[in-house]
Amino acid sequence: MTKDLCTLNEQGRDEYFMTEALKEGKKAYALGEIPIGAILVHNGEIISRHHNRRELDQDATAHAEVLVIREACDLLKRWRLTGCTLYVTIEPCPMCAGAIINSRIDRVVYGASDYKGGAVESLFNVLSHPGLNHEPQLQAGILADECAQLMKDFFKERRKSRRSTQEAEGSALEMR
Ligand SMILES: [Zn+2]
Repeated sequence: MTKDLCTLNEQGRDEYFMTEALKEGKKAYALGEIPIGAILVHNGEIISRHHNRRELDQDATAHAEVLVIREACDLLKRWRLTGCTLYVTIEPCPMCAGAIINSRIDRVVYGASDYKGGAVESLFNVLSHPGLNHEPQLQAGILADECAQLMKDFFKERRKSRRSTQEAEGSALEMR
């Protein structure tokens, strides 16, 4: 862990790492991907950072959380990610919550809730299901406003560009 991080309390560290996850989200935004970023921290060090790559890879499973979990398993040469904390800007979906359980990650920190598809507290409570034998520690709401705003801006812009495409197509039809 760097010296600066040692002087911070847990919330300060969570905000620091969430800022890094947000940077990944912003990269996704610039690429036209849904702007979700994730960071995997092992012993206080970032060992993997990714953003959603579904369009780039044309892969339905290329969510930021799955990508950092895969890379961390590769780097640490083990599938059990004990000693790791996952930071992600938006509440994980059912697939990613499943990957979190299966990789035995110690702690999960996320920014904004996803009321339509979140599998941690919104739609399902996968990470705290009493029937499962692994329950990671949970922290929600870190830099929630910034994380949610990035998504709102993205979808607003996308709707706008779709509308202008439709308008352009409409006027092209009128010209015929
Ligand atoms: Zn996911």
